[in-house]
Amino acid sequence: MKNYNITLLKGDGIGPEIVNEAVKVLNVVAEKYNFGINYTEADLGGIAIDKTGVPLPEETIIKCKSADAVLLGAVGGPKWDNLAGNIRPEAGLLGIRGALGLFANLRPAVIFKSLKDASPLKDNIIGDNLDIMVVRELTGGIYFGERGREEINGVQSAYDTEKYSVPEIERIARVAFDMAMKRNKKLCSVDKANVLESSRLWRETVTKISKEYPEVELKYMYVDNCAMQLVRNPKQFDVIVTSNIFGDILSDEASMISGSIGMLASASLSEAKSGLYEPIHGSAPDIAGMGIANPLATILSAAMMLRYSLDEPDAAQSIENAVDEVLKFARTPDIYTEGTKKVSCEEMGTLVSEIIKNK
Ligand code: NAD
Repeated sequence: MKNYNITLLKGDGIGPEIVNEAVKVLNVVAEKYNFGINYTEADLGGIAIDKTGVPLPEETIIKCKSADAVLLGAVGGPKWDNLAGNIRPEAGLLGIRGALGLFANLRPAVIFKSLKDASPLKDNIIGDNLDIMVVRELTGGIYFGERGREEINGVQSAYDTEKYSVPEIERIARVAFDMAMKRNKKLCSVDKANVLESSRLWRETVTKISKEYPEVELKYMYVDNCAMQLVRNPKQFDVIVTSNIFGDILSDEASMISGSIGMLASASLSEAKSGLYEPIHGSAPDIAGMGIANPLATILSAAMMLRYSLDEPDAAQSIENAVDEVLKFARTPDIYTEGTKKVSCEEMGTLVSEIIKNK
């Protein structure tokens, strides 16, 4: 029997509540699909600051590096808001992404049929369902380029630099093409090649890599047009690949098409197969401890973990099917609509688990 080592970073606020429900579901699929999971817990964010004085203790890095994958809840909260930037909970998050070499961020924007009403877009634009994957480069570009301020003749200016090397573009392009091969074989590379030299290199490199993937239909789009097309005709997209800064903005836009923050999963991958999986929402301090958080984004993150790091696609699919099923009759308060049963965080985890067991 295969055995996987998962490190859990429950974090702060609703983090522990939602991760516990994802673990409940993981245990059920593990039994059903005949594999074992060993869990190790480690501290990240506010809880780590309280215990050790730093948001990312060395021990956490070691436990994450030795795992097959990492599942994270969320970090942060008002208690730590007044600390200096480098010892705030969010610094722990950036630190662990760097320590694990996570260069590819995958953000699915999915609308579940039964949640169509939550989307701010009209029915005829969304169609029956919507499923876009945004692949964002995470460790290069303007967020990490040379930056500075200068003053010349009493006039202050500041600059940031967008710089990409061919190997950086090649590796993110391969992640995106591989992803497209597993989906509908359509990839849209987004850049600003009409203006930026770095975008022209991006486009040339993506074109070169496309020769390795003759089955994938590749198109290019300028970022301003893509921002518009995502709300005008989102169904045209399958996989989108883009730079760090464009991906930051477009993945938020794409995810909001689904209309419910408690439903959205994400994955960050390194060159090794391990990755870090987390919901896109934060620690929701306003509802922490009330038992009403929506655990589905974390449960869907666990499904991504099974698919992309552990090679258990059937187990992943059974979780996704169960989430689709449960939404037809039960909802946590954030996505509640009349005619469904209002359930707690814990009840939602239990319902998903029961559907998987009984299918
Ligand atoms: P947030 O995502 O935590 O919350 C925004 C709103 O959405 C809140 O009203 C919250 O109750 C609701 N919400 C979020 N997740 C929910 C869920 N699963 N179920 C039901 N409702 C949910 O964003 P925020 O309020 O801007 O930030 C709160 C804290 O989280 C801050 O300290 C911030 O720095 C941190 N944060 C962490 C991460 C992360 O860990 N990746 C990401 C974003 C924000």
